[in-house]
Parts: sequence; C-alpha cells; structure tokens
Amino acid sequence: MEHHSSLNTVQAGIKEGRLNLKNLVEEYLERIKAHRYLNAFIEVYENEALQRAAEIQDKISRKKAGRLAGLIIGIKDLICYRDHHISAGSKILENYKSIFSSTVVERLLAEDAIIIGRLNCDEFAMGGSNENSWFGPVKNYADNTKVSGGSSGGSAVAVQAGLCMAALGTDTGGSVRQPASFCGVVGLKPTYGRVSRHGIVAYASSFDQVGPLTTSVEDAAIIMEVIAGKDEYDSTSSTLPVPAYSQHLNVSGKKRIAYLPETLESEGLDPEVKALMEATIKKLQDEGHTVEPVSFPYLDYVVPTYYILTMAEASSNLARYDGVHYGYRSDNATDLESTYKKSRSEGFGTEVKRRILLGTFVLSSGHYDAFYDKAQRVRRLIRNKTEEILSYHDFILLPTSPGPAFGLGEKTDDPVVMYLADIFTVQASLAGIPAISLPLDNNSKNLPLGIQLIGKRFGENELLAFSKYLMDVTKGR
Ligand code: GLN
Repeated sequence: MEHHSSLNTVQAGIKEGRLNLKNLVEEYLERIKAHRYLNAFIEVYENEALQRAAEIQDKISRKKAGRLAGLIIGIKDLICYRDHHISAGSKILENYKSIFSSTVVERLLAEDAIIIGRLNCDEFAMGGSNENSWFGPVKNYADNTKVSGGSSGGSAVAVQAGLCMAALGTDTGGSVRQPASFCGVVGLKPTYGRVSRHGIVAYASSFDQVGPLTTSVEDAAIIMEVIAGKDEYDSTSSTLPVPAYSQHLNVSGKKRIAYLPETLESEGLDPEVKALMEATIKKLQDEGHTVEPVSFPYLDYVVPTYYILTMAEASSNLARYDGVHYGYRSDNATDLESTYKKSRSEGFGTEVKRRILLGTFVLSSGHYDAFYDKAQRVRRLIRNKTEEILSYHDFILLPTSPGPAFGLGEKTDDPVVMYLADIFTVQASLAGIPAISLPLDNNSKNLPLGIQLIGKRFGENELLAFSKYLMDVTKGR
C-alpha cells in the first residue's frame, strides 16, 4: 500500500485510469479490518465511504472534483461530524450524535475528501499515550507493546499502519506532534487561530488547534490549505489570507536556526534522540545553514505553566457535561444535584477528574493569584522569549519528545512522569506558534524518532517548505 500513501500519487493514478477510488476505499477497509487489534478506529464509516468514493470517482471523470479528491482521511474522535457519533474518547459522551459538523469537516468534504472513520484518542484529549481512552489504548504499529503516543494516538497509528492516507488530530500541548513522533509520521500544529476550532470538543480553548498527520509534508500542506482560514463561527480564527502552501514548498537561501542547549542537557533525554539532534544540526551546518545554540532559560517552567493553565481552562470547558445536556446520565440519580454528581463521577475517567479538580483549585479565589494568575504571567515570558529568538532566527530545532514510544503501562502510575514527557512540545503551545514533528530516523530498536521545528507566528508556509527540505536532505541516512 506504500505507493498509495500520498495524495499526489493517488490523484495521478486515478487520472491515468490505473486506480479506481472505490477499489482504493475497499483496500483501505480491508486493511482496517485486518488491523483491528491496533484499536486505532472507534468507528468506520464503511458504506458511506464507499458511496462517496463512487460519487467522487464520477466527479473526477467529469473534471468537477475538488482539491482533495482521492484523499482518504480519518478524524480524531474530538471533531464533530453531523449525524455521526462523537465521544471524545469518553464514556460521558456515550451514544451522543453531533448535530452539526465542525468547520474543518465541512471544508474537507467541500473539497471531496473521503472521511473513513473516527479515531481513538485520550479522553477529552488529556494524555500523552492514548491510555486514557474509554475505548482502551492504541497499539504502536512498529511495536505492539509500545504506546501510540497521545492524545491523537488513533490518528497517528492509522496513518502509520496505512489504514488511511491522512488523519486530523488536535494539539493542545503536543497531541499531534508527539504521537506523530512515536509513529514515524509528519504532524503539524498550526499557529493558534490559523484553523477554526468550531465543532472541536474543547479541552483548553486558548491552546487547542486542529492539525494534520500525514506520511509526507506535501500532504500536510494541501490539507492545511483546505482547512485553514477565517471562520465566522470562531472569533479567534485569523483573517490573514491562507497561502497556497502546497505550491510553495521550495526553499531558497540559507537559514538561521536556533537550538536550545537546555533541551540537549535535559534530564531524561534519550541518548539516541540526542544523537539524532546532533546529527541533524551537523547536517544542516554542512549544508551551509547557520545553526547555533541560543539559551532558553524557561525550560523548567514550561510544563507546570502549561498544566496549570490547561487544567484551569478544562475545568471550565468540561462543566457542560452534567448528565443533562449531553450523553451519559447516571441511572442512580434521584434529583438534580445527584444527577450532576453521579453522572460526572461515573462518566469521566480518572485523569479527566484529576484535571477538573486541579483546575478548579487553581482558579479558586484563595489560590488564583498564586497559580492561575502567575502562570499567565509566566506564559507571557515564555512567549516573549520564544518570539525574541524567532525575531533573529527562522526556526527553532528541538526534539519532539525526550524518547521513543514507551511501553504500554510504563508511565500510567505517576501522572507527573507522564506530564514531564511533554517538555519539548508545550513551548510552542504556550507561545501559540506553529510547530511540526518530522520522522527523521528510527532508533536501534526500529522505533521512530521525530525531530521538531518551531516556526514564526503564521509562518506555516516557510515551516512546511523547510520541513520538506529537511526530510529530503536527511533521507537515507
Ligand atoms: N499530553 C498533553 C496533555 O495531556 C497534551 C495533550 C494535547 O495536546 N491534547 O495535556
């Protein structure tokens, strides 16, 4: 199936009559069935996908097809699709059907993408291993004893295992980039405000962004071109015009790239990740780019700042799941108050409850100044310092994750250990700027390793172009 993996090759195949879209969808459906054990899909839209394939094949022959005709894509179970179930990986949304489509889904469909199913994820996108899903963990295709990463674990594994050509995930603090890194695929978190959040189940609204997981930078670029842009239903979406990313993937001239020495000295950094960082730095220097160390003094503060703020926002966002408005309602409730209490106690998983409790605590009047307010100030320092670095560098190069995919169950006993693994992804999230994870190598055990590039605010075009370049120059290492 390798040859089907990118949209360009599929579109060429269909045009030349070598490929038929319906057969292609059938092939993917077969593959999904054969790989059920990975637990990547929560639901497969089998009949619908086949029907759309026939319709779009017809449109292609009439030369009326959209830009994504031929793309077979999965969506994270956090992205609303009208008349389809959505559960955010949670029991509390059991049997809930969305009454409208998210803007990203509308835009995919308008360009003739085929949505093949919804993909497993950590409950309400809270997690970094997909082990917090009500539907159980997702297995890494490279090694079934390892986690997929999270929270968009199903999205990453579906692309890794060739169960769809691309997937949409969401990234609040690394949930597209970290599973992409664990699964050897490309994962982009756009600038905050680049992609509409309308119809995305909210975790932390000042961080959440939808992003593509793909096998190539080219596919990430074309998907971004379609989903990005102003949306009247999301007032935080930007009015800046969306460049034709896929048409501008060439890099000209030499770049200035910063790396943060603190990241390379960070405790717990896997030696093979460190070696890959060093090899990448060397390669870029050999190619004539300036790659230099720039100190980032706030690395120790990024994880606490991120968790205080996201838990606070989550505690507020998740108040709506009360057993009355949506989904699960406890059978044991006797009155209004016990409906709220029991439905929430029985409907939410442990990690979600922990975050609601901690988030409520940091927002409480006695502790607001010490935690929430302070974290907001530190967020500003982190953002300013990061932007200062990017005012005289084109990109920041850093690992995506301290290590490769870890073992299933390995980090579930201690939430803090799990949180600390987000150390390299949350900086771009706190700053609201774009970042991409690129599958640059495998380690000695054949597990994928990702390297991350952070770009300037709304600099997706330059980031994607340089990512393609970096993938090309490091190929075959
Ligand atoms: N692992 C991080 C968290 O649990 C990131 C999750 C995300 O980006 N949705 O919050």
